[in-house]
Amino acid sequence: MASDPTHQLFTRLIHGGLAPDPSTGAILTPIYQSTTYVQEAVGKDKGFTYSRTRNPTVAALERNLGELDRALPAACFATGMAALTVLFLATLKGGDHAVVSDVVYGGTVRLLRQVFADLGVAATFVDPGDPAALAAAWRPETRLFLVESPANPTLKLTDLAAAAAAAHAAGALLAVDNTLLPSIQEPLELGADIVLYSTTKYIEGHNSTVGGALLTRDPALADRIRFLQNAVGCIQAPFEAWLTLRGLKTLPLRMERHAQNALAVARFLESHPRVERVAYPFLDSFPQVELARRQQKNGGGMIAFEVFGGSEAGIRVMNSVSLCSLAENLGAVETLITHPATMTHAPIPAAERAAIGIGDGLVRLSVGLEDPNDLIADLERALQS
Ligand code: PLP
Repeated sequence: MASDPTHQLFTRLIHGGLAPDPSTGAILTPIYQSTTYVQEAVGKDKGFTYSRTRNPTVAALERNLGELDRALPAACFATGMAALTVLFLATLKGGDHAVVSDVVYGGTVRLLRQVFADLGVAATFVDPGDPAALAAAWRPETRLFLVESPANPTLKLTDLAAAAAAAHAAGALLAVDNTLLPSIQEPLELGADIVLYSTTKYIEGHNSTVGGALLTRDPALADRIRFLQNAVGCIQAPFEAWLTLRGLKTLPLRMERHAQNALAVARFLESHPRVERVAYPFLDSFPQVELARRQQKNGGGMIAFEVFGGSEAGIRVMNSVSLCSLAENLGAVETLITHPATMTHAPIPAAERAAIGIGDGLVRLSVGLEDPNDLIADLERALQS
């Protein structure tokens, strides 16, 4: 079926950019597990020559994933970190500068500080909600503003329309890591130039693959990203692409249920006497709840909370759950509980972590698709421990 941007999201993600396999009628795009493609004559191929450059299964995923944000076909990568690497290579060169929101995935910080800094790319980490700090961060050589909203793991939000205006006024592009809210928040509609996803999370959604993607509506930027995908050699693999395509078909459905479950669990945690603080964007107590309602369709599936008794008490809860799994990753059908200070955000020095709200007692919960009553019972037991 040809892509039609007027179709609604559920329809676009089931059919957009996809067609039955022409040779067999198979309704799903097959897994083209082939390195190379036989050419009819020199210079006469069928659009595929070598799978580092282009692969039919990956190409189907790229067309379909583009539909998520009404963008051009996405570029899909072996991991979210590969997507971040290509984002930086596509937008920055030695001598350039990036402004980055202060709370981002630890791997993003590590990549900028321990890899790109050595190549002469500077980065300033700043609270995008602090107008004075943001104004002071821009430099004449700033080319990229990268934000994560909600931020992993504090869930602090960035006003994306304001961020786009600020980036463009400074002559920079706005890239949004939308990993936590695919189908819930549309950064390109709010003025962003590039959207990044770790497809490892909600998009594939079943804890089966790692992957990443970049989406844009700008043809020149899309071409540059496509060039780098081949030049660097970090394209997604066919089987992973096929599983990710399958995930996309149910993404909006899963996201709605993730959010329903997370709201129920967040309300339970907020009412619990042992819980000191809960962050969930659609709770009335969330400091940025109005912004959340303005730019998100729902609150998403992530919760951050702290229990009375500091890090020792928080760690006790994480060690006492049984239905929730203590594990890295987020955004899958299974509920995962994580200790950001020692797991996902360990690459950030402790003092800096504390300054941006990632205390040693912070617990991150990626609420899955189990019955919310079972999750609440598990957490209730762990909180009593
Ligand atoms: N962006 C966010 C918000 C993440 O949480 C992660 C991983 O946890 C990444 C990017 C990196 O993605 P990957 O682990 O697929 O390389």
